[in-house]
Amino acid sequence: MKTVAFYTLGCKVNQYETQAITNIFENAGYNIVDFNKKADVYLINTCTVTNLSDRKSRQMIRRAKKLNGDSIVVVVGCYAQTAPEEVSKIEGVNLIVGTKERSKIIDYINEIETKKKKINVVEDIMNERSFEEFGSGIYKERTRAFIKIQEGCNQFCSYCIIPYARGPIRSRSEKNVVEEVKKLLNFGYREIVLTGIHIGSYGKDKKTTSLIELIKKVHEIDGIERIRLGSIEPNLISEDFVNTIKNLKKMCPHYHVSLQSGCDSTLERMNRKYTTLEYKKSISTLRREIEDVAISTDVMVGFPGETTEEFEKTYKFLDEISFSGMHVFKYSPRKGTPAASFESQVSPSKKEERSNRLFQLSKEKTVEFNKRFIGDVMPVLFEQKVNYKHGYIEGFTPNYIKVLCKGDENLKGQIVNVSLKETVDDFIIGKILDKD
Ligand code: SF4
Repeated sequence: MKTVAFYTLGCKVNQYETQAITNIFENAGYNIVDFNKKADVYLINTCTVTNLSDRKSRQMIRRAKKLNGDSIVVVVGCYAQTAPEEVSKIEGVNLIVGTKERSKIIDYINEIETKKKKINVVEDIMNERSFEEFGSGIYKERTRAFIKIQEGCNQFCSYCIIPYARGPIRSRSEKNVVEEVKKLLNFGYREIVLTGIHIGSYGKDKKTTSLIELIKKVHEIDGIERIRLGSIEPNLISEDFVNTIKNLKKMCPHYHVSLQSGCDSTLERMNRKYTTLEYKKSISTLRREIEDVAISTDVMVGFPGETTEEFEKTYKFLDEISFSGMHVFKYSPRKGTPAASFESQVSPSKKEERSNRLFQLSKEKTVEFNKRFIGDVMPVLFEQKVNYKHGYIEGFTPNYIKVLCKGDENLKGQIVNVSLKETVDDFIIGKILDKD
């Protein structure tokens, strides 16, 4: 039996797509092996979000060939899409596929085996208009499943290369999303996350549907108990949107609303399409209408031209909004984006100092949020054993509080009522009460 090994760099969408490609190889009779083992085929699903991601992608491509000089090395994903010629020059690469044509990978490999020649199928993605279906990215042993509903982004934030790597927005059909959710039910999943590159734009290319219409369709499916959304942007959160989701009981009261900066002039340079005032309004609407809602965010420090004063504005804004969690990133120039050539790049030491301050603030705010729920009883969906003291398993409440309880693997995939006892670091220790 032929063997294949995978290596994935980058985001949740890439992980999902690698899983979908894994299923294609399994159906073609391949045996999946660890990436560090000898394999007949190595597939590296690359990322290009920073210059460092490109470098890491190249390293993994070279490592694959070293593991087996006779192997077929396949390079797919965002880096392959944006720099196919560069990838093609790396010694040992046999097949280059970007962010489309992934459904045909096995055919291309067969062609390479017979014709013994390199194949590069990367084409311009900027005029692509359809969502590529190439199977579902179902993880067989996880409790929370991601479903890709959309591809591409039309926003062109000044620091981001993704619109060039993924092309314009393309929505997956409602029918195919619903079918995939039903498949997931058969695998025993109870929680799903609707994900994509820019999910707020779902339906805008088709004009016959929208994210909220899709959510309603998924909500109608019997058996799915929890629905979450991947990252959204503040301008999606209108009064109408909130009034609809608040009545959909399976929608988890946790929203990850991308902010990036709490300073209007920085947001403008980033080409983000909202102001801090608009952001604040969206968050107030969510908090007013949805009880116990958790709101997390992404924030970037050291964007070109970010002065001390601008950073302090961001700090104050974050402190005021009080997120339940923050992902803090240091700006990293990405060649090919406008921001990479902006003047006044911020020094690495300043970025480090600012990110440390926000990281500390994030920890404090998570504890503050978690403390509000001590003494309450909440349903927890258990996911996996953790390395904490002895015999603990972790799970999440609907509003995404991480809870650790004494318990074994049998709890995995179950939703159980838990009494929340005390906060430790970024989680809560709970006591299991009963099973629902
Ligand atoms: S919204 Fe902005 S940051 Fe997000 S993928 Fe699109 S261009 Fe990149």
